[in-house]
Amino acid sequence: MSNNSNNVASSSSADGFSSFTPYEPVSGEEYMSRPMREHFRGLLLAWRKELMEEVDRTVHHMQDEAANFPDPNDRATQESEFTMELRTRDRERKLIKKINEALDLLDDQEYGYCESCGVEIGIRRLEARPTATLCIDCKTLDEIREKQRG
Ligand SMILES: [Zn+2]
Repeated sequence: MSNNSNNVASSSSADGFSSFTPYEPVSGEEYMSRPMREHFRGLLLAWRKELMEEVDRTVHHMQDEAANFPDPNDRATQESEFTMELRTRDRERKLIKKINEALDLLDDQEYGYCESCGVEIGIRRLEARPTATLCIDCKTLDEIREKQRG
């Protein structure tokens, strides 16, 4: 069974950004060459833009709807919907912050290296999770420690 694609980032597919063309390095290309960095910059910017538009849309949606429910029952339903939406927005805001941090790392040419052990995180892992700051080994260790802590 070799056609089973190796799902490195299965746990994080929900917050991944999928509409991009995978980067094909030319042979002998060094890791995080200028074109490679530009590739990830483009990816991060597109993802951030998408998230920001999403946040924008919700805010307007909530402002429009807020005035339209004079009935208290409707308002209660609406309020729980808003709470859900706000939670999603909060998650998105945190994600945008991580994207900004990744862009800073790109500027400093430190993007793409594990912040714990310093190895190359790898193009495919970064494409699956452009805000990753740990290599897969350190990430796994991290998760094990997290679990042990309970
Ligand atoms: Zn590492």
